[in-house]
Amino acid sequence: MEINPYDVATKQIEIVAKELGLDRNTTEYLKRIERALIVSIPITMDNGTVQIFEGYRVHHSTVRGPGKGGIRFSPDVNLDEVKALATWMTWKSSLLNLPLGGAKGGVRVDPRKLSMKELERLTRRYTAEIINIIGPDIDIPAPDVNTNAQVMAWIMDVYSMQKGRSIPGVVTGKPIEIGGSVGREPATGMGLYFVLKALCEKLDCKLKDQSIVIQGFGNVGGTIAELLYKDGCKILAVSDISTGIYYKDGLDIEKLLEYVKKGKYLKDYPNDNYKHISNDELLTSKCDVLIPAAIENQITEKNADKIDCKIVLEGANGPTTPEADNILFSKGIKVVPDILANSGGVCVSYFEYIQDIHSYFWKLERINQELERIILEAFEETYRISVERNISLRTAAYIIAVERVAKAIKLRGFFP
Ligand code: NAD
Repeated sequence: MEINPYDVATKQIEIVAKELGLDRNTTEYLKRIERALIVSIPITMDNGTVQIFEGYRVHHSTVRGPGKGGIRFSPDVNLDEVKALATWMTWKSSLLNLPLGGAKGGVRVDPRKLSMKELERLTRRYTAEIINIIGPDIDIPAPDVNTNAQVMAWIMDVYSMQKGRSIPGVVTGKPIEIGGSVGREPATGMGLYFVLKALCEKLDCKLKDQSIVIQGFGNVGGTIAELLYKDGCKILAVSDISTGIYYKDGLDIEKLLEYVKKGKYLKDYPNDNYKHISNDELLTSKCDVLIPAAIENQITEKNADKIDCKIVLEGANGPTTPEADNILFSKGIKVVPDILANSGGVCVSYFEYIQDIHSYFWKLERINQELERIILEAFEETYRISVERNISLRTAAYIIAVERVAKAIKLRGFFP
């Protein structure tokens, strides 16, 4: 049976509510989303036919600030997945103590089957459909799976045209030329890198000696692969949707990145030494650090027992189910949860947002320094609580994040 990510997200709230002794009313409220919009997106295809796609935008919580979260284009997107992703965004913003809430969006489409012009029409119409619930003070979208800076540029353009002036602060992850921030594109991978380095120090091991396996070779997986490769780590395996590839002496990440950046798939990469493996085989390959950086529900009770690493660093959102989490914890594997590990993206998105509002742009050095400071503060606090209470890093991170949101709800009270 398919695992419903929203069930996972609500189960995680129940676990932490128990740990925190949170009252029933607040717990039930946190399990709900504030609002969800489902839209139909009719698009005239290049061949003159009309196809109708379904899109979503969900606000889980705006109690601590405007909603924040990416937009995903994928044939598998559904409302429950977007609700789960919006919920995780709330915890991520809160864990970093950013004045933002949690939101997410998606369109049920396989963008690989669209021409550039069709993709643009789809993005523009989707934006027009959700325009009343996005905006710099309401909800600020960003890129996620299969969306990028160009898609953000189209969203900003539609929004600005409707309002009659340029409003760059409506989205983050934009091209730099129209109000984007330096350092935003690699920010999630950069955050993963800072956290992994800090964890290695705690565990008394050298980062450069770690062997690495990465699922997903897009923005997040590709960036962390490059950073670790440059540091001297051996990257044993990477994968995209087409295949996984493995080489016991370590893959040449620079060449692989050059290849996929041309829009090509790993299954076609020409190298006889590289063994092709399935995504399932990749996840259970022996390594020091496993980095799931593709989609949800990859480590489940079916394969958790076979996971053979010291650290799981969650680049993707929701890659591990609660049942798998328990198994990994009992095996002594340190799981750095998504809301901490991949929070570099939302952190630099926040920097982009404030740069847009102030119309004053920072240098890359400042971006990376502030990112490191903020993400490491959250890491240190999470690590401390996990050691003090002998709980997983995930439960510790949730304690910090959920408690902040619960306090904000209490202070604001229920309207009317
Ligand atoms: P992306 O589209 O750039 O890359 C996704 C990668 O995963 C690609 O290599 C793709 O081929 C692969 N993939 C997709 N579906 C797959 C499947 N079913 N099985 C195996 N591989 C598959 O996306 P991204 O921005 O790198 O996002 C990856 C993950 O990281 C997502 O869970 C996303 O929510 C999360 N995330 C992204 C950001 C960000 O800033 N982009 C921030 C935080 C979290």
